[in-house]
Amino acid sequence: MKTIKELIREGLTEVAATRDINRQESIKRVYKACPDLKDIDDQILEVRNSRFIAVIDNDERLIKRFDVAEEELIAKRDKIIARNNIDPDFDQEKSICDKCGDTGFTKGSDGTVKVCSCRKRELEMCYEQSGMADYSSYKMKNYRDDYLGNAASRKKIKNELLKVMLGLDSGEGKSPLCVYSAPPQTGKTFLAVGVCKTAINLGKSAFYAKCEDLATIGTDTLDDLKHIDFLVIDDFADAVTMYNNVGSILNSILETRAAAGLSTVLVTPFPKSELVNKCDMRISGKLQSAKLISSEGR
Ligand SMILES: [Zn+2]
Repeated sequence: MKTIKELIREGLTEVAATRDINRQESIKRVYKACPDLKDIDDQILEVRNSRFIAVIDNDERLIKRFDVAEEELIAKRDKIIARNNIDPDFDQEKSICDKCGDTGFTKGSDGTVKVCSCRKRELEMCYEQSGMADYSSYKMKNYRDDYLGNAASRKKIKNELLKVMLGLDSGEGKSPLCVYSAPPQTGKTFLAVGVCKTAINLGKSAFYAKCEDLATIGTDTLDDLKHIDFLVIDDFADAVTMYNNVGSILNSILETRAAAGLSTVLVTPFPKSELVNKCDMRISGKLQSAKLISSEGR
């Protein structure tokens, strides 16, 4: 998997090439409209080349003469530019995106750095590569607090998950592992995908996986899952950890992530207490100290 920062970095070469093409086009356009300017610029170039040779020859008198000549040409050039209403920066490279200056990231008024809207393509590509190819329509902004009633509780769960994702919840002695438990059909997957996409939008590396899929995910990706900033494991259930080596794979991921203090969320329809009792022993131990985020009465 590639992180959003890697994808944006890869796109920079293309953006730089486009900037250069735009600059060349702008010069061509201005010279065509004002051949006098092209003529002056050619002369300036010639004077500079001659001055360069004079420097090598160490000919002080000649250097001075070229300096004066260049000054005169530049004064003429400024006049032409002003008289013809030409943008004085017409021959400079300009950012393609004014919002981010082509860095791919913008800073909001609240100080948060986010992927710029000009990198939507990279963002979608990153979601796809981060386990969310099947959820292209899931968007955090469409998560409704008042869906199925109990808006306060849904909003609280959403905010707690966002805090875990941002690492705001971690602290001395606190586990970076979190169990998000809610009954079936309450929009758990929608919210989990939304939080995971938000993480990527903030420039983090993140991944969404179904617990049972840990058995079939390639070893390279499994290794990535140990080190990315934020990981969501959905459809977590004690039975799933008993088959296809899933318990052992998950245990090893959780161990490495806990040691590095990286946030992981296990999404499950079962109450945490039930999971602690029934899970693979190694996982069960980790669940005990995990933070619980759940709907009321769980
Ligand atoms: Zn931009």
